[in-house]
Amino acid sequence: MKILVAVKRVIDYNVKIRVKTDETGVETANVKMSMNPFDEIAVEEALRLREKGAATEIVVVSMGVQQCQETIRTALAMGADRGIHVKTDSELQPLAVAKLLARIIENEMPDVVILGKQAIDDDASQTGQMLAGLLNWPQGTFASKLDLADGKATVTREVDGGLETVLLGLPAIVTTDLRLNEPRYASLPNIMKARKKPIEELTPEEMGVDVAPRLTTLKVTEPPQRTAGVKVETVAELVDKLKTEAGVI
Ligand code: AMP
Repeated sequence: MKILVAVKRVIDYNVKIRVKTDETGVETANVKMSMNPFDEIAVEEALRLREKGAATEIVVVSMGVQQCQETIRTALAMGADRGIHVKTDSELQPLAVAKLLARIIENEMPDVVILGKQAIDDDASQTGQMLAGLLNWPQGTFASKLDLADGKATVTREVDGGLETVLLGLPAIVTTDLRLNEPRYASLPNIMKARKKPIEELTPEEMGVDVAPRLTTLKVTEPPQRTAGVKVETVAELVDKLKTEAGVI
């Protein structure tokens, strides 16, 4: 049983995002980048499935600039077996990523593909769903539990107001939610071992995939500044302010 995991390089979740002064996007120069947190959960889940004996090989895929190889190395240090890097300096939107993944999947033929439920930079939450559509595979999105047995995946999904459990025939697409697991840290020996693990390099051109953006970003702006609150002494003062200043009653 082979598991393929998609890992995206994004701005580290601890970094305070700064919008570029020309409002074309966010500042990425000299900013700490890391693996998308939901993708760390995806790698961890694949590792646990292998440890339980439900999987034998874990392949991680990342797409984008040369430094994506660092993200792949992080996954290899966590324990994945090998990596695939689709190198491009072009902007990759979810449809392009889904098409590239579909092409890789045709070759690799994994039984399960695990992605994050969303990338914390574009917040699109589209890639896994588009990939399932392109491949015509079943999908279990926003997973908080995943079991593989008898050629099927049982996925517990986080849905509004509760949990939904779905049974999928394999091969299938799964996207991870926060509660699925807590990712491990890579140990030093494993970081050393990861240096020797193979990373295959491809480009969208040699894969014959058109990655041209379909959407144009018109403008990126900071959220409006919050104004400071005030303390009121009495309920009467509060009601007065709500009437006369806020104008909400
Ligand atoms: P999104 O649809 O952009 O919110 O991303 C959802 C998931 O798709 C991410 O958590 C990753 O697992 C995968 N993904 C998106 N973009 C990339 C990329 N450039 N390289 C690898 N995986 C990606």
